[in-house]
Amino acid sequence: MDDLRNTINGCQVDPINGRWLDNIEPATGELLGRLPDSDGDDVQLAFEAASAAFEGWSSSDGTVRSGYLHRLADAVEAHLEELARLESIDNGKPIALARSVDIPRAVANLRFFAEAALADRTEEFITGERARNLVHRDPVGVVGLISPWNLPLYLLTWKIGPALAAGNTAVAKPSELTPATAARLGELSVEAGLPPGVLNIVHGHGAGAGEAIVGHPGIPAISFTGGTVTGSRIAAQAGPCFKKLSLELGGKNPNIIFDDADLEAALVTSLRSSFANQGQICLCGSRILVHTSIQERVVDAIVEGARGLRVGDPLEDKTQQGALVSSDHRDKVHACVQRAKDEGGHVQCGGQPPAALPDRCAGGFFYEPTVITGLSMETKTNQEEIFGPVVTITPFDTEEEAIAMANATDYGLSATVWTTSEDRARRMSSAIDAGTVWVNCWLLRDLRVPFGGVKHSGVGREGGEEAMHFFTEAKTVCTAKGTTT
Ligand code: NAD
Repeated sequence: MDDLRNTINGCQVDPINGRWLDNIEPATGELLGRLPDSDGDDVQLAFEAASAAFEGWSSSDGTVRSGYLHRLADAVEAHLEELARLESIDNGKPIALARSVDIPRAVANLRFFAEAALADRTEEFITGERARNLVHRDPVGVVGLISPWNLPLYLLTWKIGPALAAGNTAVAKPSELTPATAARLGELSVEAGLPPGVLNIVHGHGAGAGEAIVGHPGIPAISFTGGTVTGSRIAAQAGPCFKKLSLELGGKNPNIIFDDADLEAALVTSLRSSFANQGQICLCGSRILVHTSIQERVVDAIVEGARGLRVGDPLEDKTQQGALVSSDHRDKVHACVQRAKDEGGHVQCGGQPPAALPDRCAGGFFYEPTVITGLSMETKTNQEEIFGPVVTITPFDTEEEAIAMANATDYGLSATVWTTSEDRARRMSSAIDAGTVWVNCWLLRDLRVPFGGVKHSGVGREGGEEAMHFFTEAKTVCTAKGTTT
């Protein structure tokens, strides 16, 4: 992989300060190349380009913006295999996952919001004989888009799509740990003919480029996906400037299995929801709560399934578990497992890096899928997001107890409930504090529905019209009836 560059005003540019960061391949621990360590000067350049492009882009017809977004989607689709390989190398995720989920979803995001650009969102309210109200939705301006490393292109396009569809121009910053597909998207956006300045991609650390975007006085809206601590820092920086904020943060999601569940289906999906993308999905069900009567069967099946997952070179088609994103993150996950032991947890499987790996991967950041039992909800293991291939299994006796346990963390992103009882499903989904509750399924996403978390999992919603609302400002024009002709 060559050195990556910022995409600013339709050009590939080096960082102004001449500083670069190393990009390490998670599966090997080897240097892949470098990325710009951008700072406020690069963000300013990107802002100026976005600002200059704003008038033309925001006043263009929705059909024009839709056409550009479809062309960008076409370009991503045409390079699907290349982008899947890049994502797998850069992030450590299995190429099969990048090929079937990450890149197709990036295409779907762009196409979905290409269609959303076509809708007229102006609403009319008639106040009896007195007035006519028209509520217009105007683009916000130059928006800041900041995304994490776990689903790099998938989550970046989830922001770029609605931002551009609504008529904004953007300064986007991908994670410094996974910059490759964003850099390629920047190149593809130029090839697809997107007007210069509409989409600018600035690489770098959170403390450099990230804070410069959040603090920029000309950027009135920040859409952020990442960790809860970072989200709180961003809120503290942006709040006093009255910026619009969308914060999609961490999770510690319960996956609740009742004794009346279709157990076979629950177990197959629970293995996936525990370990997909090495457990590095904000929606992973990292706390399995199981009815006491089926606890043993569930533990046995999940442990057997976890042991059977093929950990290996992410670039091999059959690999089911790739590498964690960095050595620091692998160390953090391992420290969490050690803490779980200190808290009295029983590590049923995993709890260490795998013994045998292909030669190429000897220096990679792999970790065995890990199942832990015997911990109460009060333990740090069950309270704090680990964001790795680690799942706990804890028994409950009653529905009330399951609800209390599900809600016993500061997070509230998603939950899964396994039951064949419609009444129970209704009671549970109403009682659980979460932005999304899946009943007898997981990660089934309709791009039209609101997505986001409650409590420390975030503020605001993405998806469908929620995203289009975030990226627009409502302006009401109230005209007294009969006063204009
Ligand atoms: P992170 O918070 O460390 O970084 C996310 C992004 O923010 C990166 O681009 C980073 O460079 C940038 N950043 C860091 N500090 C910043 C600052 N002070 N100002 C501006 N930008 C800053 O998160 P991560 O480790 O990349 O991602 C993992 C986290 O993301 C997990 O907590 C996971 O649950 C969460 N996540 C949430 C969702 C969701 O939709 N709720 C989706 C995916 C991931």
